[in-house]
Amino acid sequence: MTLPWIQNESRNAVRTEETAEDQLSLIPWWSVVLAVIVFAAVQYLFHGVMPHHKHELLPMRLLMGYSWGTAFASYVLLVGYVSRDVKRRKMPAGLWMLIVVLMPGGIGAVVYFLLRQPLLRACPNCRTEVMSSYHFCPQCQFQMAPVCGRCFRGVQITDVYCTQCGHDLAKDQAPARLRAYSD
Ligand SMILES: [Zn+2]
Ligand SMILES: [Zn+2]
Repeated sequence: MTLPWIQNESRNAVRTEETAEDQLSLIPWWSVVLAVIVFAAVQYLFHGVMPHHKHELLPMRLLMGYSWGTAFASYVLLVGYVSRDVKRRKMPAGLWMLIVVLMPGGIGAVVYFLLRQPLLRACPNCRTEVMSSYHFCPQCQFQMAPVCGRCFRGVQITDVYCTQCGHDLAKDQAPARLRAYSD
């Protein structure tokens, strides 16, 4: 029997987790620009437009301007993030953008993060789109994540024994590509 994960030893290491940097790169440039503009506009609103008859309240006004500005700017960044995240999860983008933007006080965003679909990724072997939590590709049996050789539950690549059944993981001879990125 030939095992698909041995045939494909030379392929790139499969990434199981995404870093914070990947998350940040999901924020599009337009929403960063918009966030800066929104922040500046809120400052202008507090210091330029609103009437100033009580000058002793300046520290208060500075604080209010800063916190409202930050709140609105973060919201714009969040909308930008969702606009990209929704596409890579293959969810209806228009509908979700509408929900996130229109529901008041960020409730739409909360609903989005509760209901969003798990991330899909392409199997490195056959390009089938599969859930990122899968250990094996459902179409070609390609191994995507380190698993215990006895109970087939997920394990950490640094584990010596399976945390679920105590199996000695060194006996499994896990594919090198799954070990490579742990060092
Ligand atoms: Zn596959
Ligand atoms: Zn096990």
